[in-house]
Amino acid sequence: MSPPPNTPSDDGPRHPPSLSRQTWNLAQALAEFAADGFKTASKEEYGARLAICDACDQRQDNRCMKCGCRLSLKAKGRAFRCPLNKWPALIESSNKSMDDSPHASE
Ligand code: SF4
Repeated sequence: MSPPPNTPSDDGPRHPPSLSRQTWNLAQALAEFAADGFKTASKEEYGARLAICDACDQRQDNRCMKCGCRLSLKAKGRAFRCPLNKWPALIESSNKSMDDSPHASE
């Protein structure tokens, strides 16, 4: 199955993708998360991801305008990826709890 076509709102900063595209992105990400055994990033990896997002023009509050995801959740899943490949690849050994993360409840 192919993803929904891009719309003009997919291009440029500060505009989220269409709802159908966001749904597709979420389904793909969740499938990858499940295939990875629902493993999470370490606190350090999580913080590093959000620090990269802080400097990105696609971030608007807690949301990525490129994929439409909530960053405080997206950064937790080890299998989740930055749509612009700005996040570093995570190593196999990272599978720590994020329950006490300061960003978890955002
Ligand atoms: S996930 Fe990637 S594209 Fe989105 S805000 Fe973070 S660094 Fe930018």
